Amino acid sequence: MQKLTLDDIDVRGKRVLIRVDFNVPLNTSEDGSPCVADDTRIRAALPTLRHVLDHGGKAILISHLGRPGGQPDPDLSLACVADHLGTLIDERVRFSSNTVGDTVGDVIDGMGDGSIILLENTRFDPGEKSNEEGFAKALASLADVYVNDAFGAAHRAHASTAGVARFVETAAMGRLMEKEIEALTRVRDHPEHPMVAILGGSKVSDKLGTIRALSTTADHLLIGGAMSYTFLQVLGHEVGASRIEADRLETAESLYEEAEDTLLLPSDHVVADAPDAEADASVVEGDIPEGKMGLDIGPATIETYRTAILDAATIVWNGPMGVFELEQFAQGTMAIAEATAEATDDGAFSVVGGGDSVSALGQSGCTDRISHVSTGGGALLTFLEGAPLPGIDALTDA
Ligand code: AMP
Repeated sequence: MQKLTLDDIDVRGKRVLIRVDFNVPLNTSEDGSPCVADDTRIRAALPTLRHVLDHGGKAILISHLGRPGGQPDPDLSLACVADHLGTLIDERVRFSSNTVGDTVGDVIDGMGDGSIILLENTRFDPGEKSNEEGFAKALASLADVYVNDAFGAAHRAHASTAGVARFVETAAMGRLMEKEIEALTRVRDHPEHPMVAILGGSKVSDKLGTIRALSTTADHLLIGGAMSYTFLQVLGHEVGASRIEADRLETAESLYEEAEDTLLLPSDHVVADAPDAEADASVVEGDIPEGKMGLDIGPATIETYRTAILDAATIVWNGPMGVFELEQFAQGTMAIAEATAEATDDGAFSVVGGGDSVSALGQSGCTDRISHVSTGGGALLTFLEGAPLPGIDALTDA
């Protein structure tokens, strides 16, 4: 179902409540105050913010940050994000230490058209995650129009991502949401073949539905990361001390049977005693010796995966191939990043999403060569699985 976009609404003179995804990593600056460590997600929201401000709307921004557990936590305040946004957008960005209530309403009423305010972390209120009606209504009372641009949080049915939309007349997608849906729909619903999906990371349990769905559309599904060992164990391989999910063996087995024709698993591994920067790493083929952990895909697997990727017309990648945070286990992930970029240079359409894959992509220097770098991790997997995203479903039909 098509949803309203910014092109369908007139924001002039309106209070536009915009749900952004400012869940960014923070750092401590030299003077000890918190600062933004990576502003990719803030930059991704700029087209929507610019549109609203340039068309004379009042932009009222809401977001969550981290996991404060439903109560105020000064370490997870969005105040420093407001300052950072000010430097990017070249406007004065007001900040409200309250998220809802009369004081916030009064401040907003006093703002001129074309001005902008960021409200405090929505997760400081217990009603956010429980999608409590009172909190959703309090948010809605600040708005004439609601815009959801937080694709990264669209798989959550929280008050600020879904609940609030029920209490406003008009709820539309922002520019980032539109762009994400367009790119991901292309991959999910009408990919050009051959299509290669690459899934890695720590847990198979997070990705079962996505593996199942992609195995019906992709020509090859390349598996890496710790989740390969759950599959390899099911196939009767020795996996040593590798990380597996013992309670998912049966599920992995039936999934493997369903997806056998498309699923590719690592044939060799970089192993060590522990995921440790100082550990002695070596390459083994086939079975993993007792006591050793598989921590990256090996060179033969890299070659096989690379060949499949270079031959692809559509590529989607989520999850690292190994413990890429440590240099000696990063080669598999870097090789996937490089191959995906090379294939894109040659005309393939590529989508990369998920915090770790995007950060690995940055590490490899290949980010700018990818067709679409998604801001979603869980939301991306949910979308590819074909499951509903409450943050999109809640918006007004076009
Ligand atoms: P996820 O959040 O499920 O995408 O998993 C990402 C994490 O999986 C990263 O922090 C990796 O270090 C970790 N990881 C990838 N491969 C392995 C492996 N073979 N063993 C243990 N952890 C891994």
